[in-house]
Amino acid sequence: KQELFSSINPTTETILAEYPALSEEELRSKVKGAAAAFQDWSQTSITHRADLLKSLKTELLSQRDDFAKLMTLEMGKPILQARAEIEKCAGLCDYYRTHGPQFLAPETVTGNTARKSYVRFDPLGPVLAVMPWNFPCWQVLRFAIPGLLAGNVCVLKHATNVLGSAARIEEIFLKAGYPAGVFCSLNTGRQSILPLISSNEIKAVTLTGSELAGRAVAEAAGRHLKKCVLELGGSDPFIVLPGVDIETTAQKAVEARTMNNGQSCIAAKRFIVHDECYDEFVDAMTAQMKSLTVGDPLDESSAIGPLARKDLRDTLHQQVRSTVKEGGKLLTGGKPVDRKGWFYEPTVFSDVSPQMTAFREELFGPVAPIIKAADADEAVALANQSSFGLGSSIWTKDIEQAEKLAARIESGCVFINQVTMSDASVPFGGIKNSGYGRELGEAGIREFVNMKTVWIG
Ligand code: NDP
Repeated sequence: KQELFSSINPTTETILAEYPALSEEELRSKVKGAAAAFQDWSQTSITHRADLLKSLKTELLSQRDDFAKLMTLEMGKPILQARAEIEKCAGLCDYYRTHGPQFLAPETVTGNTARKSYVRFDPLGPVLAVMPWNFPCWQVLRFAIPGLLAGNVCVLKHATNVLGSAARIEEIFLKAGYPAGVFCSLNTGRQSILPLISSNEIKAVTLTGSELAGRAVAEAAGRHLKKCVLELGGSDPFIVLPGVDIETTAQKAVEARTMNNGQSCIAAKRFIVHDECYDEFVDAMTAQMKSLTVGDPLDESSAIGPLARKDLRDTLHQQVRSTVKEGGKLLTGGKPVDRKGWFYEPTVFSDVSPQMTAFREELFGPVAPIIKAADADEAVALANQSSFGLGSSIWTKDIEQAEKLAARIESGCVFINQVTMSDASVPFGGIKNSGYGRELGEAGIREFVNMKTVWIG
């Protein structure tokens, strides 16, 4: 019997749509189609490919409201954030249209005996993108826009709970004028990943998702010697030092914790607060978390919608219960909301220590553990006491000190007095169990190219 993937509305727990899984033969034919499309696509000029980003942007914006609603229905993010996600993707088109061609222009090399030598940045071929549901459009386009501009083609295996969004993205590329096969989406489960990576047609793979999925993909990519980029989970520290305005900083902390209903890899997940302002911060953050409106994500006044799947909410609740048992002081929340849908109460813990679950594991939901640090040195030590190393932020009046601390923090980025975010212009990625490789900026577009030396003697 043919496998069906269900897209379930996390607000109402009802099935939105069902998508049949592709057969092995269909999968093979799609991948062959991508490889065939690469032959022509890779020969188009960079100017042509950059021009197409203009129509991609127009198409994205013309479908903004409708696509945003689809994302909210499929995975529960607040509707205003869904619209902002599409706009961010449109902004990414502008960024790479303007800067991409120069990132890929051949670079002359000097300091050798060649009459002339330079480096070209040639495309690799079809790249497999294994993507998650939390930012159904952004996660995909963050890879696909620079990837396609570089002359690669994209084979998407999206998370099986957002296949409506996957189909929508494929349609948007076609409507924008991209040839068939240059961007294709496969309705398939995780069991297809290994055969796909081992196939001759797939030249590289990128994954955004959990550590577990990352390890599986890295293992397969390693076995078949395929280049691989991994954007995995995080447990970002949010370090608060004395002297800052506590109300405003707590407001930023709440924003950093609860964006996308708390389901972001770079959400702040451990609030490490200096002894001097600890009590005041705990009170301010708890009060602000309590005041958040949890409700239907299609309602513009809702700050927090449901978690995307029931199993994700169950896991979060399990982590909260373990933290209570381990001695974390529960100040607000701590359980699923008593209504239909996979909602979870905005939750705050104080007195959290490194042995507790809320410190050690990634919490993918609106749960904020607060940890006391005796001074800035201890704050950095606590920040680094994690198996993850994705993002981090420092909140302070002393920028000079913060820049020194930034050098010691084990993460892929440090934001000072700014909520951690991904921005088109700067590399995005992690270290330790948060993965390797970078997306965005110049580094991102150069991940999936053949850096080819040409030497004229
Ligand atoms: P997964 O990592 O399971 O899913 C992300 C993508 O990876 C999906 O397309 C999924 O496919 C695929 N996948 C899962 N397992 C494998 C595997 N063994 N081999 C190949 N591909 C695989 O994340 P979940 O949705 O289950 O979320 C679990 C946790 O992961 C979250 O609580 C959070 O901690 C973290 N996470 C981090 C994200 C980030 O932005 N870095 C995004 C999502 C989750 P399929 O849908 O078919 O299972």
